[in-house]
Amino acid sequence: MYETERQELVDKISLKGITDKAVLNAIGEVERHKFVPVAMKQHAYNDVALPIGHGQTISQPFTVAFMTQALKLNPGGKVLEIGTGSGYQAAILLKMGMEVYSIERNVDIFYKTRKLLDEMELRINTKCGDGTLGWEEFAPYDGIIVTAGSPTIPNSLKKQLALGGRMVIPVGDKTSQRLKIVTKLEEEKFGIEEIPEFAFVPLIGREGWNEK
Ligand code: SAH
Repeated sequence: MYETERQELVDKISLKGITDKAVLNAIGEVERHKFVPVAMKQHAYNDVALPIGHGQTISQPFTVAFMTQALKLNPGGKVLEIGTGSGYQAAILLKMGMEVYSIERNVDIFYKTRKLLDEMELRINTKCGDGTLGWEEFAPYDGIIVTAGSPTIPNSLKKQLALGGRMVIPVGDKTSQRLKIVTKLEEEKFGIEEIPEFAFVPLIGREGWNEK
C-alpha cells in the first residue's frame, strides 16, 4: 500500500539534498503510515511532522533522513536513539542494517510503540526511561541520535559514544534548535558542526530540560 506516495516522498527528499542511498532506500521501504494515528494516515507521506498523541510528534521525513545521513553509519553498527516516539526513526535505522537501541520516557508512548514494533516483527531494543543518561549497558555506540531538543549535550551521551562515532542532537531553547553533529575524536575531544533552524519537542530529563 501507498507505494507511489512513498516513492514520491523519496524523490522529494532527494531533491532537498539527501544523497545517501541507504537512507533513501530505507525511506522508500518503511511504511510510515503504520507509525501514525489512523486519522493521520492520509498525510503519512507528506514531508511534515505529525502528532502522535501526548503532545509528541513523529519527525518530518526530511529531518529523519538528514539526521540519519549525518551519522555516516556503516551497516552492522550500533545506534542509540533517544526519544522512540512512534518508532519510525528506529525502523529506518533497522532497515539500514543497524543494531538499534531506543529509549522513550513517556510510559504510554513506550508501550504503544513496543506493541507496534512486535506486531511488525521489528527487532529493536527498547527501554522506558530517561534517555539523557543513555543506555550504559550496551555502550559504546557508533551513532547516537537524539530526536528531542536539549538545552545542552548530555555528558552521559558523550561518554557512551565510540571513538570515531557521531551523535546528532538538536540543541537550543524550547522553540528552536540548531542541529549539532558531534564526532568523538579522542576520549575527551569532540568535533562539533552546527546546522541552524530545526524545531523539536523538548528533551526532558536529568541532563535535559527539567520536568515542569
Ligand atoms: N524518533 C521519534 C520522534 C519522537 S518525538 C519518531 O520517529 O517518531 C521525541 C520523543 O522524545 C517523544 O516521544 C518524547 O516523549 C521523547 N523524550 C523526551 N525526553 C526524553 C528523554 N529524556 N528520554 C527519552 N525520551 C524522551
